[in-house]
Amino acid sequence: FVESTNLEKVQIKDKKFELYISENEIQKSIQKVAARINTDYKGEEIIFVGVLNGAFMFAADLMKDINLECEISFVKVTSYKGTSSTGKVHELIGLTTDIKDKHVVILEDIVDSGLTLSKLYSMIDHNSPKSVEVATLLYKPDAFKGKYPPKYVGLEIPNKFIVGYGLDYLELGRNTRDIYQIKE
Ligand code: 5GP
Ligand code: MG
Ligand code: MG
Repeated sequence: FVESTNLEKVQIKDKKFELYISENEIQKSIQKVAARINTDYKGEEIIFVGVLNGAFMFAADLMKDINLECEISFVKVTSYKGTSSTGKVHELIGLTTDIKDKHVVILEDIVDSGLTLSKLYSMIDHNSPKSVEVATLLYKPDAFKGKYPPKYVGLEIPNKFIVGYGLDYLELGRNTRDIYQIKE
């Protein structure tokens, strides 16, 4: 298990991980995303929809730099088992906010295949929002198979499994300030 944060190496169950993106780099990229959103939605009302569990840290830190009138809500979906996507997205907690005619920004920890996003898009589009965009801390362009790439991206990364800062391996490892990459 992860013993503490800010370590060079961590072991979670059978897998070894090494430091990949520092807390500082994460926070700087979040400030840039927040600044773009603040500019793009100036004077507009907006609803942020965070995707649990992975996006809880990103959502919390991003919101501290958003200076718009906004609502914050969460949905819960799951598609990953271990270190790969199952290909099936399950909705565990649906949308409880009224988003009709409102601007929606989906908050993701990471966009990988884009499967989760397509599912979320249709879930949200179904409720007639004014617009829908996606802000994600991390994006793996090489793994993306979707139609619409995310508009607001903190950092682009290669197609390798990572943990930390909200992202899990077997539900463990979410509680770190830095992000770690799997050692192969
Ligand atoms: P997608 O549906 O785009 O393939 O994957 C979306 C979800 O899978 C993400 O929101 C995240 O929860 C999980 N995921 C994708 N890539 C990674 C990764 O490298 N590490 C971890 N821990 N989860 C990932
Ligand atoms: Mg996620
Ligand atoms: Mg996961």
